[in-house]
Amino acid sequence: STKADKDWLQGYVDDWVDFYRKHTKEGQVASYIPILAKANPNHLGISIHGKNGMIVKSGDTDIPFTIQSISKVISFMVACMEKGIGYVLDRVDVEPTGEAFNSIMHLEMKSIDKPLNPFVNAGALTVTSMLNGKTAMEKLEPILKLLEKMIGYRPTINQAVFESEEESSARNRAIGYYLVETGFLESNLELTLETYFKQCSIEITVDDLARIGLILANDGRDPFGEGEIIPRQIARIVKALMLTCGMYDASGKFATYVGIPAKSGVSGGIMAVAPPRVRERYLPFIEGCGIGVYGPALEDRGNSIAGIKLLKHIASQWDLSVF
Ligand code: GLN
Repeated sequence: STKADKDWLQGYVDDWVDFYRKHTKEGQVASYIPILAKANPNHLGISIHGKNGMIVKSGDTDIPFTIQSISKVISFMVACMEKGIGYVLDRVDVEPTGEAFNSIMHLEMKSIDKPLNPFVNAGALTVTSMLNGKTAMEKLEPILKLLEKMIGYRPTINQAVFESEEESSARNRAIGYYLVETGFLESNLELTLETYFKQCSIEITVDDLARIGLILANDGRDPFGEGEIIPRQIARIVKALMLTCGMYDASGKFATYVGIPAKSGVSGGIMAVAPPRVRERYLPFIEGCGIGVYGPALEDRGNSIAGIKLLKHIASQWDLSVF
């Protein structure tokens, strides 16, 4: 029965969260944005939303946190919907960098003619600058609307996190000025930065991330709603980008050892997508599910340390890898 299945799955997930929580001690909360250093490093929570309607969640699932870099997925999708995929990809490439998310290394290389991908800050600022609107709130409106369609309520912007990002913005400004000089920014720098910091400061939970993952896993459709929320082609591109660039410069290892599209943020969130696939052991719950993880203690690349270990374990137990 569904109830027995759910209890069985719940038991496993509870055990795994208990087990992996100790690994939070091996990581550190982000501190370059001062307010993020206040997060509790011991927190670890996961939520999994199945296409069959089952939800399994465990650990610290009620803590709201800011979406940070996971917002780059949303802004990229909105830019593609507003301007067309061709327009966006003419201005931002789809290649992994192998460098940190806020690296300035590649910007000046002659062989590279545009920011390498929308999930590093150079690419994300370029994408945000493309969004329609003359004010930050106008540019953010379609991002908030799309999120609302996916998670079922209109999320808010955490003002304190936004201010903290603004106060510690030297690196993003450096990247931004370079993009101004090279002609990539389509809005002025201050407007672009304000919009970008606000999009990073949108507050969400692991359930919200699981819902977004579920919709991406199902090619942009909500299995419980009607019609397409994200055009299929955009959902496909975004999943390819998540797999190749979603976990910063640890994306290769994540693709190898976990094998599903995922996007992390420095506040400790991970949004993962398990597309449906033929498996030897048929578990309806995991066919096209979305997974949200929160664990603010990070490894040195900026990904949730226990979150990655937990996902790796679940992916191997349930054969989630798309390969
Ligand atoms: N707001 C953060 C920054 O731009 C987001 C980074 C992240 O989550 N990797 O530095």
